[in-house]
Amino acid sequence: MHSNKKIIVIGGGIGGAATALALHRNGFEPVVYERVKELREVGAGIALWANATHVLKKLGLLEAALRVGVITSNYQFNSQHGKELVNLPVDGFELPTIGIHRADLHKLLWSKLPEKQFILGETFERLELHENKVRADFASGLTIEGDALIGADGLNSRVRTELFGQQPPIYRNFTTWRGLTSHIPNTYPSGYIREFLGRGKGFGFMMLGKNRMYWYAAALAPENQPDAAIERKKQLENMFQDWFRSIPELIAATDETDIIKTDLYDRVPALPWSKQNITLLGDAAHPTLPTLGQGACMALEDALVVTKCLLEHSEAEVAFRKYESLRFPRTKSIVKQSLRSAQMGKLKHPINVALRETLMKLIKPAIKNSFKSIHAYRA
Ligand SMILES: Cc1cc2nc3c(=O)[nH]c(=O)nc-3n(C[C@H](O)[C@H](O)[C@H](O)COP(=O)(O)OP(=O)(O)OC[C@H]3O[C@@H](n4cnc5c(N)ncnc54)[C@H](O)[C@@H]3O)c2cc1C
Repeated sequence: MHSNKKIIVIGGGIGGAATALALHRNGFEPVVYERVKELREVGAGIALWANATHVLKKLGLLEAALRVGVITSNYQFNSQHGKELVNLPVDGFELPTIGIHRADLHKLLWSKLPEKQFILGETFERLELHENKVRADFASGLTIEGDALIGADGLNSRVRTELFGQQPPIYRNFTTWRGLTSHIPNTYPSGYIREFLGRGKGFGFMMLGKNRMYWYAAALAPENQPDAAIERKKQLENMFQDWFRSIPELIAATDETDIIKTDLYDRVPALPWSKQNITLLGDAAHPTLPTLGQGACMALEDALVVTKCLLEHSEAEVAFRKYESLRFPRTKSIVKQSLRSAQMGKLKHPINVALRETLMKLIKPAIKNSFKSIHAYRA
């Protein structure tokens, strides 16, 4: 596709921002339309494995990410009381794994784009195809026209609905809480992601840059449970009171306003993602459960691949077909593996939990290989 063509990107999250930056660096004219009026990300951390730090390197952002993030060396799984089950080194690649605050990552991606290419406060509503052009209508009354459109508008993508009709994502019976604190437990081995698996519940924590500790908890729960911010801390303190001592310590040290709660969804992987000169990217295309921490990493990979395809093919329609054929097998495999891992987390009976712990120790080489093959991918 000729690089001076205008590409509309709907959604300026990690996927949309990375895509706009990759396109901009390659001479295209992307314009992002984001519904929020002010740039902000949820107050939580994110693990960027080597497959994602490769993308940051290609975008010229790795050095800057290392300045605001922290290098992660090990991913350790434990029983709920802290008995180590599996300890995987994650620093065996030519690229680092980084723990980073989402807002810091987002800022890095945004800050490299000219302001006029990021339009805030515009909620996409409808699209129309006009010969070779795409027309997008926004809630504000704005109408724009471009040569191609990329829907990077997340889990409940409006672009997806416009293309393929209403297909709600699937609730996978887990809810999560994420928190940030400056408290670092004295048992914490630096560079570690520590995860603790219990009966239908789990807890994990890792360091981010600027001396912040990020923790996450997950538990089986019905969808859309009534939730009041002021009860979250009490609820978590009750749920994890008899777990490994750093866990209640971290919850107690966290300000109530720094805890967020999210129900977890995915979709059954399926093509197509594209129709003519319109395609989907990131969670809009392949939302996944966060058990392998790969959702944002895959969105970053998509950004590079879709840009390469647009550079290689003069017609957006051909480029998008190529992009989805390149991305579908990998994203499908990660979505399915993430769901399988979550299912292991559903076990509640003490005998099943004990069997899971024995199994995890026995299959440590298989777990290690599976992580290694996911992290070894280079978009
Ligand atoms: C608990 C939890 C932990 C996670 N941990 C990790 C991790 O460690 N590592 C990892 O890689 N991933 C992780 N993820 C997954 C990751 O958060 C997502 O995969 C990633 O944010 C997807 O990015 P995206 O840009 O595709 O979508 P989003 O981040 O959802 O961004 C979509 C953007 O589109 C905008 N938008 C939506 N609708 C419209 C509209 N109609 N018009 C205009 N704009 C619109 C939204 O405001 C938003 O800014 C985690 C997810 C959860 C829930």
